[in-house]
Amino acid sequence: MPTKRDYYQILGVGRNASEEEIKKAFRRLAFQYHPDRNPSPDAEAKFKEINEAYEVLSNSQKRAAYDRYGTAEVGANGFEGFSSFGCFGDIFETFFGGAQQSARRGPRRGANLRYDLTIDFEEAVFGTRKVIEIVRTEVCSECGGSGSDPDTPPERCPTCNGSGQIRRVQQSIFGHFVNIAPCGRCNGEGRVIVKPCPTCRGTGRERRAEKLEIDIPAGVDDGRELRLPGKGEAGQRGGPSGDLYIVINVREHKLFKRRDYDILLELPINFAQAALGDEVEVPTVDGPSKLKIAPGTQTGRIYTLKEKGVPYLRGGGRGDQLVKIRVVTPTNLSEYQKELFRELAKTFGSGTSNHQEERGFFSKLKDAISGG
Ligand SMILES: [Zn+2]
Ligand SMILES: [Zn+2]
Repeated sequence: MPTKRDYYQILGVGRNASEEEIKKAFRRLAFQYHPDRNPSPDAEAKFKEINEAYEVLSNSQKRAAYDRYGTAEVGANGFEGFSSFGCFGDIFETFFGGAQQSARRGPRRGANLRYDLTIDFEEAVFGTRKVIEIVRTEVCSECGGSGSDPDTPPERCPTCNGSGQIRRVQQSIFGHFVNIAPCGRCNGEGRVIVKPCPTCRGTGRERRAEKLEIDIPAGVDDGRELRLPGKGEAGQRGGPSGDLYIVINVREHKLFKRRDYDILLELPINFAQAALGDEVEVPTVDGPSKLKIAPGTQTGRIYTLKEKGVPYLRGGGRGDQLVKIRVVTPTNLSEYQKELFRELAKTFGSGTSNHQEERGFFSKLKDAISGG
């Protein structure tokens, strides 16, 4: 089936032609193609086509419907009927292809940007201020984003007459379908730039480096995102800018590890300190702090230094520092030290000298053997 021709084209008038212009065009063409006067074989078909076009375009209601839907036959309920075809997914696709997009493109929000910022462990704990430089697109300062030379305003697109859409009526077994596609000449904007802005070369946007001061709050952790509203890419056609997301990466510390708001430190001590107890200095993020090691301290025991951890992001105090003890077995003993250990060993007999632990161990062993 041939595609139905555009009524305006048939009459040779523009889309915004006045009633008078339409009437004039019709009279001239009807006179030219009237079968009584025109002997050519397709004159009659042509004459019918002209009449059909005039019938629609001379009636303001029909013309409005045609302008909106591309055909005067689909009235108020005709166009709504399309939705019922939604269930025939494939058929729908076949008729409309990819052309059934939002015909006129409105303002579009700019893209979000992501910036990875690496900071030191202590900076994450106490907060810091960083200056970063990002390159982002901004609205062109010369043309305000229009992309058009400020002295030469854009003009109405001649292809779509400013509507931003191209309509094509298609025939199918279900009747008329109107293919609405964005106008390719003006990209659906309805206006074409006559002279592009020299600063942004018509894009309406320019890339610019910008220095930003970022306040990193005390207590941030690795992987945390800070959002800076409006500092992403500029929007298009008057849309708002996107956001900038600063993703915090925290460098590992030589000594400290972090678990939420607590700081973990493993502290190696020697046999004597473990057995007899001691008072030692341990590093904290606030500087050295005194820690009392109780006599008989085992590997794995955890001492808590209250409020020496990470400040809470929302304020109101801070976590603790947890000191985990590791008793180091001595190596490379001198002869004298070996002698002392031998003397010590005699006093222990064959056990560990920790009677409670031994009892616990042997009773568990017994249970395991007896299957209890
Ligand atoms: Zn510009
Ligand atoms: Zn256009």
